[in-house]
Amino acid sequence: MKEKLSHPVFKLVSEASCELGFPAYVIGGWVRDLLLKRDSKDIDIVVVGSGIDLAARVAEKAGKTGKLKVFKNFGTAMLRFDDWEVEFVGARRESYRLHSRKPIVEDGSLADDMNRRDFTINAMAISLNKDDFGSLFDPFKGQKDLLEKRIRTPLDPDLTYSDDPLRMMRALRFSAQLNFEIDPDSFEAIKRYAHRIKIVSIERIMDEFNKILLTPKPGQGILKVHQSELLKHFFPELEALKGVEVINGKAHKDNLLHTLKVLDNLAANTDDLWLRWAALLHDIAKPLTKRFDPEVGWTFHGHEFLGSKMVPNIFRSLKLPLNEKMKYVKKLVLLHLRPIVLSESIVTDSAVRRLLFEAGDDIDDLMLLCEADITSGNAAKVKRYLQNFEVVRLKLKEIEEKDRLRNWQPPVTGDDIMQTFGLKPCREVGIIKTAIREAILEGTIPNEREPAWKLMLSEGKKLGLSPVSTTK
Ligand code: ATP
Ligand code: MG
Repeated sequence: MKEKLSHPVFKLVSEASCELGFPAYVIGGWVRDLLLKRDSKDIDIVVVGSGIDLAARVAEKAGKTGKLKVFKNFGTAMLRFDDWEVEFVGARRESYRLHSRKPIVEDGSLADDMNRRDFTINAMAISLNKDDFGSLFDPFKGQKDLLEKRIRTPLDPDLTYSDDPLRMMRALRFSAQLNFEIDPDSFEAIKRYAHRIKIVSIERIMDEFNKILLTPKPGQGILKVHQSELLKHFFPELEALKGVEVINGKAHKDNLLHTLKVLDNLAANTDDLWLRWAALLHDIAKPLTKRFDPEVGWTFHGHEFLGSKMVPNIFRSLKLPLNEKMKYVKKLVLLHLRPIVLSESIVTDSAVRRLLFEAGDDIDDLMLLCEADITSGNAAKVKRYLQNFEVVRLKLKEIEEKDRLRNWQPPVTGDDIMQTFGLKPCREVGIIKTAIREAILEGTIPNEREPAWKLMLSEGKKLGLSPVSTTK
């Protein structure tokens, strides 16, 4: 272990802790990641004594007193060594009250501090003290759990989870990130205490949820959030996708399982969090649009429109950003059926042009989403879809090269129209603009200034307008 502690910060902490008589240990995530051979530059040092005093002494020895950040309210201090971030905190004992996940904190021993940790794999410490420098303290057999890929709480899981219910989301997040199983006793306890997640702020829940979304198999991770009965407490719209209804022997697919499969398919091709969000929400309005038609069976007409309308409210209630990320997700949900509809019919130039026009720069993302959405169990069907998709892709490329419709700017602008006919902004300007856009999308005229100008003049004439200026 000693050779793993070669960074100069460990030597400095060791010396300073000896001088002040405050035993110090590296603890938590860094120790876990060291044993897992994962790179980590976030170091937590627990100090039996004052974390702030020890940090100040270390800063002094390193000639970095200017770099020390002290958080008096929390009794912690932070010091940077290049890209290493070292946090110092006094060992503490915690007791919880029923209505809050914020504990009453008292000074404590190393053992007290380890008891309050969330998981055995996060409750290991390495001594930085002179007499036993480098020895590992592993009171709850965290090393064994690392080897056996298990998430387990140090104390009774009922107590650990009910004290701080955020730990339930952390369990699911670590399980997804590390590909570990949650110990069955722990999983049962999560189910029992799932309702307590309500005392945790949605921002904290979403931090963990988004970390799950960013793992290689996010769908599997989120399925466990559902199975643990947590999902319904903070994301009822997603929970509502679960289940299958049967009428006259006809069943629809389970939309939650389908969505999570789409998410996993997509995750193989993108790391982008918001594109993954679009996959998660693409069918979100299916429960609300579900109908049974005796002729055709189950339908979900308009779920893409309603779904896209639901996006802002969902983002608001989950405290996700209401900026262009939300608009992007909204747009992809709205358009998610378009490429597939295209691939099912004879692909006309004008349909491809319209899709390019509406999707703009997000067309490639939309194609990824749409391809991931093909989850049929019928291999022949999947093959046919994928082949048709290739046709759509080729067509998109061809039309794009020819017509340059991505991020389309009209070849004749509103200003041109107003100047030509001596108009102020008015309805007629809009009518002419729309006529030009439609003609280009339909392919009646090419996407160029000269023919668009001609069309402007003839459309103007139809509206009884005559040009006052002839400058182009
Ligand atoms: P990562 O930084 O990769 O998310 P981490 O384990 O370092 O993982 P942090 O949130 O940085 O997680 O927390 C550092 C350590 O503090 C954890 O390893 C754990 O020992 C402890 N800890 C964090 N949050 C909790 C909590 N809610 N309850 C109990 N212990 C916690
Ligand atoms: Mg950390």
